[in-house]
Amino acid sequence: MLKIENLCVEINDNQILKDFNLVINDGEIHALMGVNGAGKSTLVKALSGHYDTNITSGTITYNGKDVRSLKPEARANEGMFLSFQSPVEVPGVNNNYFLKTAVNAKRVYQGLEELDAREFMVYLKEKMAKYGLDNSLLKRGLNEGFSGGEKKRNELIQLLLLDPNFIMLDEIDSGIDVDALKSVSKVINGMFNEKKSVLMITHYDRLLELIKPHFVHIIKKGKIVKTGDYSLALELDAKGFAAMGYEDEKI
Ligand code: ADP
Ligand code: MG
Repeated sequence: MLKIENLCVEINDNQILKDFNLVINDGEIHALMGVNGAGKSTLVKALSGHYDTNITSGTITYNGKDVRSLKPEARANEGMFLSFQSPVEVPGVNNNYFLKTAVNAKRVYQGLEELDAREFMVYLKEKMAKYGLDNSLLKRGLNEGFSGGEKKRNELIQLLLLDPNFIMLDEIDSGIDVDALKSVSKVINGMFNEKKSVLMITHYDRLLELIKPHFVHIIKKGKIVKTGDYSLALELDAKGFAAMGYEDEKI
């Protein structure tokens, strides 16, 4: 599904990712761990085409396509999805309207008919009911005044409705309670199949216990320095990055 080769990424003229390599096949769940500032968010931002990031060299191939030639919205329509670490507030844009517009944009891209307001409500309610999510956030402005946990829940709703193939989760577990964490795992595990892949960034074993990764990578100074299986996450949880030598000297 995804092949990243020798990727170098800058933010504000500072090199953050250096010769980064990663292959993610269909049906695989990968976890990316590392100290603050290691470049985890920079990677998923670069993959999704975020304007903060400047790719200076290297390649990203998604389902055989060169991702750099695709705009962020085309990447989304092709099935890439990023749940942001810090979702932005967009006051004045109704959340329900935003979700409907996003779903329809993808349907148009796929050559499907747009859903009208009533059809969208049926689609939304069915999906939300399946995972026990409530509708209370939908009538408000997009993330406007949402608590940290509510913002994460709203990312989850977008994920559910857009039904992407390549799911990137940037610390979706930070700032949420145990029940919300269970909702996250219920949605991810419920929609996951052998045609989808997940790249999740987390600091905590709790999420990985609920969504078991096939591979765990440790990133240090913009490069993967160790890859293992789930046991690597357990070891990190027990010992910490510093004890295992994965702490960045500058921190
Ligand atoms: P992580 O997600 O692993 O904690 P990030 O990828 O967010 O780390 O950040 C990597 C480095 O890039 C950090 O040193 C961070 O301060 C820097 N950085 C991230 N975003 C910006 C930005 N918009 N402007 C300047 N520096 C940034
Ligand atoms: Mg981050």
